[in-house]
Amino acid sequence: MGADHLWQDLGLPHRRALSELMATRFMTLAQRNTGDMKWKKFLYKQLCEREEIFVCKSPSCAACSDYDVCFGPETGPAT
Ligand code: SF4
Repeated sequence: MGADHLWQDLGLPHRRALSELMATRFMTLAQRNTGDMKWKKFLYKQLCEREEIFVCKSPSCAACSDYDVCFGPETGPAT
């Protein structure tokens, strides 16, 4: 629920630490993030899909105008 990238909200030193945490502690879930989506976006998307709530602008990430919001680098301020 924080305003920054998930790795920042969790107090981790960098995104890679969160990716390693996800890969070791939530392996099955992490393996579903095949496109290296930002972790917070990815987790919310999983919840939306589980509840069959579809709020995306596009049926395909590749064709979506928000692609950079969901898949862009997680080093600067969260968007
Ligand atoms: S890129 Fe677009 S379609 Fe893909 S998860 Fe983000 S908002 Fe949804």
